[in-house]
Amino acid sequence: MTALLEVEDLRVAYGKIEAVKGISFAVETGQVVTLIGTNGAGKTTTLRTLSGLLRPSSGNITFDGKPLTGVAAHKIVALGLAHSPEGRHLFPRLTIEENLQLGAFLRKDKDGIEKDIQRVYELFPILGERRKQASGTLSGGEQQMLAMGRALMSRPKLLMLDEPSMGLSPIMMKKIMETIRELREQGTTILLVEQNAQAALTLADHAHVMEIGRIALSGTGQHLLHDESVRKAYLGED
Ligand code: ATP
Repeated sequence: MTALLEVEDLRVAYGKIEAVKGISFAVETGQVVTLIGTNGAGKTTTLRTLSGLLRPSSGNITFDGKPLTGVAAHKIVALGLAHSPEGRHLFPRLTIEENLQLGAFLRKDKDGIEKDIQRVYELFPILGERRKQASGTLSGGEQQMLAMGRALMSRPKLLMLDEPSMGLSPIMMKKIMETIRELREQGTTILLVEQNAQAALTLADHAHVMEIGRIALSGTGQHLLHDESVRKAYLGED
């Protein structure tokens, strides 16, 4: 079986500084794959490159059988790869509903769009209750839910989530993680970047630990959750 996403020897640099130094990994359809690692390891850079926001200096990206390297960001969304970025990037003056509609900007099927908006409200009932509220006035957790909902509105084959738990209370974080599990059960394939290694590894089918631009360790989520070096470095154990 060929993977939905295949990344081969990917390198990305900001000027002379190489942030991603030759990483390879794959995401199979239906899986949750996570990239964990400390600040500055290159996780966000990797996602931004996959979305076409940054150009790699070398390496190959294949998505759904097609090469992605050099393809424009909006075309990558059209191919089925959606990105819920770090820091959310919502349109603060627009309402929840308007933000969700913008997530479907490439679609023409009005009925399908309306159905998917309802599906987002089922996943996150608070968004339905506040549908006419400007997104800039939402709490951090609510904004995170909206960012995920907006990414889902393009009906992606692969949903990339960058630090969905960042800055959230433990209750909100639990809710977001439960939703990721629910989405997986509904068949959504997910590439998850997280600082919260415990939560990410618990969810993930497959995980990669990034350290200064490289993949230092890979395995199933369960395997890494019980790996001694991971426990010491990322799960705060002595
Ligand atoms: P975090 O969890 O802190 O977001 P990360 O693993 O996502 O970390 P990146 O944001 O990908 O890490 O950053 C990787 C490296 O690239 C860091 O050393 C960072 O300082 C550098 N970097 C990121 N963005 C830029 C930029 N626009 N210009 C120059 N260097 C950058």
